Amino acid sequence: MYAARATSGPVELAFTDRHGGVSRAPFDSLNLGWSGGDDAEAMAENHQLLMADFAPDDGVEGLAELGQVHGREVLRVGLEGPRHDVHGHLHGIGDGLVTDQPRVTLSVRSADCAPVLLADPEAGVIGACHCGRAGVVAGIVPATVAAMRDLGATTITAWVGPHVCGRCYEVPQQMQDDVAATEPTARATTSWGTPSLDLGAGVAAQLGREDVRVVDLSRCTIESSDLFSYRRDGALSGRQAGVIRRSR
Ligand SMILES: [Zn+2]
Repeated sequence: MYAARATSGPVELAFTDRHGGVSRAPFDSLNLGWSGGDDAEAMAENHQLLMADFAPDDGVEGLAELGQVHGREVLRVGLEGPRHDVHGHLHGIGDGLVTDQPRVTLSVRSADCAPVLLADPEAGVIGACHCGRAGVVAGIVPATVAAMRDLGATTITAWVGPHVCGRCYEVPQQMQDDVAATEPTARATTSWGTPSLDLGAGVAAQLGREDVRVVDLSRCTIESSDLFSYRRDGALSGRQAGVIRRSR
């Protein structure tokens, strides 16, 4: 079920892998998407299975997630932001979530983008965002950090989960140049010598400039058969998730 887990004080977080769900091939099995070619009931059950394990006291009603659009909108769970949808969980449109509330599980979905989970355990503020090529340029990571600071966060740690690595993420030269114009550290080269992007390096640089400590829990989605990868599997790819909550 999990590619990685960590705790920090009352903060619990995890990055899922593709195992432990009920979706059939090629979405086998813990597909945490909501769209695509997979069976809708299987996807809903996968979310319930995840929450039964990750936050058994809260269940799927405690899950907050996003209709992700690769922008820089950050929603605050609490007084405003996501509303309960037909699946029973909180749902809004954007690419980052923050909260200062306990027992809310923030979730971001990804297949090759970098999921980033953040916390200031002392202040009781947590955040989550996903960052792909567009997110690096849009600045979703610094936007999420800023939204956390608005809620009182000061000393923030970020955990970066599985994403396509710089040796695999081949892009056209012009695309690399466009991203590097915003984030030079993302410029990389594939293992076969062509232009690529290193999302992890770009995210780490952006977090570093915000004075956020980075914990790298990543693996390459393309290279690991335990993970979903859109780059590798296209429309037949499921989605994994990064989830974070405060237990108290
Ligand atoms: Zn790779």
